Amino acid sequence: MNPYISIVIPVYNEEPNIQRLFSRLYPVMQETGRPFEIIFTDDGSRDRSLELLKALAAANPEVRIVEFNGNFGQHMAILAAFEISRGDIVITLDADLQNPPEEIPKLVAEIEKGHDVVGSIRQKRQDTFFRKTASLMVNIATRKMTGMKMTDYGCMLRAYHRNIVDNINRCQEASTFIPALAQTFASSPSEVEVAHAERLEGESKYSLYKLIRLNFDLMTGFSVVPLQLFALVGILTSLFAVAFAGFLLVRRFIIGAEVEGVFTLFAILFFFLGITIFGIGIVGEYVGRIYQEVRRRPRYVVRTVHGAADEP
Ligand code: UDP
Ligand code: MG
Repeated sequence: MNPYISIVIPVYNEEPNIQRLFSRLYPVMQETGRPFEIIFTDDGSRDRSLELLKALAAANPEVRIVEFNGNFGQHMAILAAFEISRGDIVITLDADLQNPPEEIPKLVAEIEKGHDVVGSIRQKRQDTFFRKTASLMVNIATRKMTGMKMTDYGCMLRAYHRNIVDNINRCQEASTFIPALAQTFASSPSEVEVAHAERLEGESKYSLYKLIRLNFDLMTGFSVVPLQLFALVGILTSLFAVAFAGFLLVRRFIIGAEVEGVFTLFAILFFFLGITIFGIGIVGEYVGRIYQEVRRRPRYVVRTVHGAADEP
């Protein structure tokens, strides 16, 4: 029998959290009284995470594991699990217990009301100040640029209807941001408030660099506004330069040529130089994306899938 709910959990070096996550998640799922499956993706963990997951899969027929052949990132891990998920409702969750499994029935109920994507807003978010500020800025910028109405992009406790997951599975883009991708397919999105806890054990797997990368994926993967903005700045700069040249010409006739204030000129020059380099960077982001797409490399490599359901 096909499961009704699929739980999808990416795992990267979460050894201390796996058992505790499972012992909270499993009873919640049993209480729903519906058939379910739990799919973990081991994203190339270097600790004993995979071993622990295999033990869970051996003891519980509902558990399946996608074993990656390296670290391909949280979003790829979720996509790989989406590919093999079978439930009518698919729910994503972090492995570090920041998203309480007890909130899952709330999401299920919201989908059953007829919504196809259910996002979540973290009440009293438990993260470091730096992490929160970074997220706040990203949330605002993304809302402005993509025009998508989502309050909290970062919270991965989300539910998707089968249709949405099928559509996501059809996309083959090389790098992506799942909540935003789902939002583009949603016809009736909804949001619920969920509790948020501190990370149970270990550290955030997102370094500053990974975070910046992810945000570029979000900006340039779902919007061309950065390119358009840049073109606009270019036009305004040119207009200003023409006006300035005109002013200097007139000044030359009235007062004469100017020599002082050369360094002011330098300052102005560096300012525009900065804008130019920034622009090349933005163009580069898009070129890089196009390059990734045309190379058509596999986005991730699955070594094996473990779990009772996959035995021949
Ligand atoms: N994760 C992953 N691959 C990565 C980084 C993270 O599968 O390269 C998983 C991680 O195990 C966790 C989830 O993605 O289940 C969220 O990661 P984390 O808690 O480090 O992110 P944060 O809460 O700081 O956004
Ligand atoms: Mg976390």
